[in-house]
Formats: sequence, C-alpha cells, structure tokens
Amino acid sequence: MIDVQPIPAFDDNYIWLLTRPGYDGCAVVDPGDEDPVIERLRALGLALDAILVTHKHGDHVGGIRGLKAEWPDAVVYGPAGEPVRTLERRLRDGDRVTLPGLGVAFGVLDVPGHTEGHIAYHGDGMLFCGDTLFAAGCGRVFSGTFEQLSVSLQRLGRLPPETRVYCAHEYTLANLGFAAWVEPDSELLGARTARDRAARERGEPTVPSSIADELATNPFMRTDQPAVVAAAARWAGHALCDRDAVFRALRTWKDRDYD
Ligand SMILES: [Zn+2]
Repeated sequence: MIDVQPIPAFDDNYIWLLTRPGYDGCAVVDPGDEDPVIERLRALGLALDAILVTHKHGDHVGGIRGLKAEWPDAVVYGPAGEPVRTLERRLRDGDRVTLPGLGVAFGVLDVPGHTEGHIAYHGDGMLFCGDTLFAAGCGRVFSGTFEQLSVSLQRLGRLPPETRVYCAHEYTLANLGFAAWVEPDSELLGARTARDRAARERGEPTVPSSIADELATNPFMRTDQPAVVAAAARWAGHALCDRDAVFRALRTWKDRDYD
C-alpha cells in the first residue's frame, strides 16, 4: 500500500511524497523547491524514481533541475500542453504513468482552466490535482478560461466520491470563509469548518479531502445547486443561464471581493 505525505514548501505549498514501506525509491508531485525534498529524502534514505508535474507554474516546477542533479535517473512527467523544458515524458488525457517500484499507476486527466494545459493524476483512490481543485475552492483562471475550469471541476466531480484529493496548497480555511458567503446556512459547511480549523490548530494539514467533501461544501463544485445558483445570481445582479455562468460569477466574486 502506497503512503503519501506532504513536504511543506514556500508559505503554503504541499509537495506530495509517495513511498511504499520496504521500498527505497519514491516519487514526488509538483516540486516547486528542491531543498525541502532533498532534506526529507536524505533523512528517509530514499532515492527519487519519478517527478510528476501538474502544470507550468514556478512553485510547481522550480525544484526539478535541482532534484535531477541529485537523482539523474528520476523520470520527469508532466503536461504535453505546457512549456516546461525540464519535462521528459509529456502526457495527454488518457495516458498512464506506471511507477512499478511503488506498485501504483495513474491515469492522466486533462483539467485546463487554471492554466491552458493543466493535468491531474488519478489512480489507487487518489487524485493529484495541482491548482485546479482546492479543498473548498479552486484555482484562479490564469492562462486558461472560465469555461475550461468549470468543465474540469465538473469532470473531477464525477470521480468516485471516496477519492482522496491531494491539492497543492493549504488554502482551506480561507476558502471555507468564502464558501460561507455563498452558503451561510449550510450545516455541512459549518461542520467542515470546525473540523479543518481544529486540524490547523493542531498544526496538521487539512489535505487530503475527498471528492465527497468537495461535492458537499465546495461552492465551485456545486454550481448546479439552487442555493449556490441563487447566491451567484444575487452577486451578479441578473439570472445565470448555466453552470459555466454560475462558475464565472463565483470565481469573479471571490477574486474581486474576497481575496
Ligand atoms: Zn498554479
């Protein structure tokens, strides 16, 4: 059974470390910085087999060169649709990444919107989704489009509900604050906020969440729910015709008024 641990980086990034008990290799997801990874792998006596990258932003790819200098045999996987020169295997929707030493394989999902070629890795009950879906939120629209991100989130919402969601940032409490603007009467949201606030007070990550958690409390995954549609329409000042329009209103509301 594979084990997944966060390696904190910068202010609020998580670089995910994948290991298997009794095996001395490992993989990391989205290493924005090599230093904390090298330190952790040395402490654990692990060699790096593979680097999995979700998108082109520096806080996800900045550590690749430094890790390759340390472990030249590590294979660097990432999105075919993004300009990252350090990638060695360029992945498209439907491709598979097999990590035999860890005994795990991931399917590749195209989930554009935050960036134009963002991918996610799904397998073994886990989803590594970079900056597309966050716990209780989603990424900003940078080099993709609102419509792309709306569709990508709906796609992730159709994964099995028990899927564990490993996003790349600890933004959860701030995201839950905005979610409460959208659905102030949600008991599920209140319960999740209490649970996640307690985790942070203990110094623990709130990630992973699950697809079920996100469908229940993440407004950006709930653009078909009447309370969310009504709140977004109130902010926009007019009726919203479909899920993509609701998504665009929510994302713009949060960008302009919340953070
Ligand atoms: Zn990003």
